Amino acid sequence: MDGSDYNLFWAETVRQLMEEGNLSEQEHDMWFRNMEYIRGDSGSLILGVPSNFYRDQVKQRYLKMLESRLCDLIGSSMTIDFEIRKNSNIPQEKTAVKQTNSKKPREDAPTTNENPSHQPEREPHRQLRQDYAFEEFVIGNNNSFAASAAQAIASNPGGAYNPFLIYGGVGLGKTHLMQSIGNSIHYSMADKKVVYITAETFINEFIHSIKSETQSQFKNKYRKVDVLLIDDIHDLQNKKETQEELFHTFNALYDAKKQLVFTCDRPPSELRNFADRLKSRFERGLNVDLQPPNFETRHAILRKKLETITTTIPDEVLELIARNVTTNIRDLEASLTKLVAYADLVAKNITVEVAQQQLKGSFTSTLTANITIDRVQRVVSEYFNVTPADMKGKKRTKQVTFPRQVAMFIIREITDYSTTEIGLEFGGRDHTTVMHACQRIEDRMKGDPTLEPTVGELIRATKENG
Ligand code: ADP
Ligand code: MG
Repeated sequence: MDGSDYNLFWAETVRQLMEEGNLSEQEHDMWFRNMEYIRGDSGSLILGVPSNFYRDQVKQRYLKMLESRLCDLIGSSMTIDFEIRKNSNIPQEKTAVKQTNSKKPREDAPTTNENPSHQPEREPHRQLRQDYAFEEFVIGNNNSFAASAAQAIASNPGGAYNPFLIYGGVGLGKTHLMQSIGNSIHYSMADKKVVYITAETFINEFIHSIKSETQSQFKNKYRKVDVLLIDDIHDLQNKKETQEELFHTFNALYDAKKQLVFTCDRPPSELRNFADRLKSRFERGLNVDLQPPNFETRHAILRKKLETITTTIPDEVLELIARNVTTNIRDLEASLTKLVAYADLVAKNITVEVAQQQLKGSFTSTLTANITIDRVQRVVSEYFNVTPADMKGKKRTKQVTFPRQVAMFIIREITDYSTTEIGLEFGGRDHTTVMHACQRIEDRMKGDPTLEPTVGELIRATKENG
């Protein structure tokens, strides 16, 4: 097969995916129009894209689907790689990832003078995303403990916190933080071997090793590492044999003082169909959780993401997104990406009106612009069956203090009111009382898994029952 045949296969891949509706026309315009076939050989296909940002987006969204279709068409295994083509005839989209980590190799610069200290620079780690680095991780109310622990581990792997387990809901930064540890060690400790794998791949590789009788290779691969990062270990639930294998891998590495890091969507104690002895190994080291970010943190994250993008988005639009996309950081990013793509494609200035129009469907609910303290008090007091007067009153029985704290927390979450203003509307309480109340609710959420859904429900009700 010569190079041009691969071009045909590539075109056919895209055509089929579109025809089947796996790729909408809009997606095609957004991500595929600015992509070009460069070359192909047996086993891999190289595509040109205008920026790192673009490459990462395409990889994240489509890589699996594209590779698998390409393999089907060609009849042998194919991987897709990307090259950044700055000066090609592809129209430049305006976004580009700024390289903030000086240790990252720059793709667009010669390597001489890059490294004045003459330390050998390591190639990027093949399994880690380069932008999942500490430099890109915004520290906020929801993650400061986890982030400090992660940094401590990165500077002393296998030391104090072993194993390290990060748990929390989807899109809250578990993978980012875990890979930051990996990247940091990879670049700063040239002798350390870092391995990152999702639990799902670990399972598949294990099963494959049994079928192909290559178990000893599998064992060796995971027992000869300095830092083992396994993402999403909840996927190991019900996988008895793989759990068993991981148990032995764990022990081997742990005894050799190698660093283990895991992520999980829940605290290990809540894993089901999971070997107790493995659970207790996870709990042996440091377990930290990631919470949903509050407004300030959401806003800070958006500002950080905007640093890497040249499209102008006014701060009031960022605030609008931060206020309305409250679920998690992945959704937050998706909203920003959508606006940036819109701005680039339609070449329009992004105003608050345009943003509202474009993001209607992404917002947790109707706009919160005119949510008042009074409205939250009404919804919350109705739910807990206390009177709004009690909310503002002096009573300190549990029946009223808890709803009062919930209401304060919600107001803090979804409105602009300062703690001083909120205190005033609750019978002239001091702003520290409000801060204390919000902290109480945040703490309780950690221990009581039913509270967060309740608060979420009340927020929705507040937004809807204007
Ligand atoms: P999880 O693994 O918990 O589902 P991810 O680590 O994949 O979540 O995070 C989802 C997205 O949000 C990623 O693109 C990540 O870079 C981003 N993100 C999460 N937390 C932060 C943060 N504190 N600062 C900057 N970006 C973040
Ligand atoms: Mg993840």
